[in-house]
Amino acid sequence: MKCILCEQRKAKRYCPAKRTYICSVCCGEKRGVEIDCPLDCPYYVEGQSYQQTKATRQRVKKEGVQSYIRRAELYNRNPEIFAQIETVLVDFFRRYNIKDEDLTTALDLVIKTLDTEKKGIFYEHKAESKIVNELSGQLLAVIRTFKDRAEVGQGRISIDYAIDVVQEFLKEVKFYREIETNPQTYLINISGYYPDKAVESRSSGGLIITP
Ligand SMILES: [Zn+2]
Repeated sequence: MKCILCEQRKAKRYCPAKRTYICSVCCGEKRGVEIDCPLDCPYYVEGQSYQQTKATRQRVKKEGVQSYIRRAELYNRNPEIFAQIETVLVDFFRRYNIKDEDLTTALDLVIKTLDTEKKGIFYEHKAESKIVNELSGQLLAVIRTFKDRAEVGQGRISIDYAIDVVQEFLKEVKFYREIETNPQTYLINISGYYPDKAVESRSSGGLIITP
């Protein structure tokens, strides 16, 4: 049996998204990118964790272990804000199919806006893309819930911490863009941690539509 995707190689892996067998090369290259892989596919899950380990190792090699400790410190101070930011990113990725590049633009805007705010000026920096602006607006909204509301209590954050966190995200996305050719590597990677939508779309019984 030949792979339905390349029509060349032997199809050895069962692909739950395509509901048939595909070859290991197509699976490796297309999973999570051209193939809308469900999160219970063992090849997809294995690939995700491999990517993650590889990226971590490469980053430590490039930037030294110090950058990792720094990220861990920032994260431990307020894991909730990291989770909420990631939720927004994954949501935009699924809704608008944004690229890692759009993400860097949006994060840059957020940093600029917070820097301006530090000087006492309230001005929201904008880009040309409407979606990028919407994304930076939502990220700012997340930050503001932690920064400005008294009821957050202990989780309340300073503007400097917020800037550090956003800069950390920016550094990570830029790193992924350097080491990977797929323009959505970072977003695909973090989506693996937020499976809600995939579960929902499967349980609603809809067919998976692929281009
Ligand atoms: Zn193939």
